[in-house]
Amino acid sequence: MRPIRPGDRGPAVREIRAVLTGLDLLAAGPSAGDEFDADTERAVRAFQQSRGLSVDGRVGAETWRALDAARWRLGARTLYHAVPEPLTGEDVRSLQERLLEMGYDVGRADAVYGVRTSRAVAQFQREMGLKPDGSCGPQTMGTLRRLGRKVVGGRPQWLRESDAIRQAGPALVGRTVVIDPGHGGTDPGVVVPDGPLRWTEADLVHDLASRLEGRLAAAGVRVQLTRGPTPHSCLPDAERAQLANSLGADVFISLHTDGHANPEAEGVATYHYGTGNGVTSATGERLAGLVQREIVARTGLRDCRTHAKTWELLRLTRMPAVRVEVGYLTSPTDRGRLVDPRFRDRLVEAIVAAVQRMYFPIERDVPTGSIDVSALRAAVAAGRRVGAN
Ligand SMILES: [Zn+2]
Repeated sequence: MRPIRPGDRGPAVREIRAVLTGLDLLAAGPSAGDEFDADTERAVRAFQQSRGLSVDGRVGAETWRALDAARWRLGARTLYHAVPEPLTGEDVRSLQERLLEMGYDVGRADAVYGVRTSRAVAQFQREMGLKPDGSCGPQTMGTLRRLGRKVVGGRPQWLRESDAIRQAGPALVGRTVVIDPGHGGTDPGVVVPDGPLRWTEADLVHDLASRLEGRLAAAGVRVQLTRGPTPHSCLPDAERAQLANSLGADVFISLHTDGHANPEAEGVATYHYGTGNGVTSATGERLAGLVQREIVARTGLRDCRTHAKTWELLRLTRMPAVRVEVGYLTSPTDRGRLVDPRFRDRLVEAIVAAVQRMYFPIERDVPTGSIDVSALRAAVAAGRRVGAN
């Protein structure tokens, strides 16, 4: 085929311009729609350079193939391992980059849907509970999309997320935190009779949530609870996640207490999204670590550590999300603490400190449990380094 070159006109030129416009290399405009003008030539050169092709400003067979591959946007078609001629395109490259970010082995992001990419997709599907057929259709694409920007893995990605948080500034002012008191309505959660009284998880965690709401609101945070103290019915976890998404929450904190037949089971544990197989929400994991460390340091609850889970609540939320099990209601030790309002205040203080640390520059970090939130807030407002006290 004769290269399409400057000065040419016609439907082929119109198509080339459309692809270049889609790649943001050419400004969209009504003029010169089918003319290979100077702007088109510049765009073709830029495109060739970006793809490692020889830069001559003309569209020969090789550049044409590259342009044709570039028109595919991820999600526009189903991707699969085709034999003998594998699918190629920008959509394949985007998919490979996403999978690499999440820690799957696709080799190099070469825009070719080969056997290695297919295997990586199958592994991803298996971990997400989808049919592991190694092809990327609407369902797999939907899962990728729902995971959104929060699911990442690997050090470079972690640093990028941390940078974004750092650039957002240290202040909590104007952030939206959604607090999710677990259970409610017809579902009381863990219930423990205590003489004429009965302690219920749903009531305790709602009390904690309202205390947390008050403390965060005082720090200038917009706070929303997923339920009131006595809802008619129990909102499913998927709907709690949707609510947080629709509110554009920056942070999601779900509060529960644990229960076990053995009264000796006790302690606090924090959960974040992850498959336990390398796929994790880096920011969720960080928030979980902060919450867990602050609570253990400030309350003396036994450290049952942080864990990755694929629960809907954590999977469907698009922001750093954690679920904290603040002690066992069935443990006489933990229960004795939880029913004390002053202890609940200490718990809440620990969670506020953890959220504050999420948005606090890392270089100014101070030892866990060693600062009080008002000192931290004052120091942030003054823009100076805080010393431990
Ligand atoms: Zn619960």
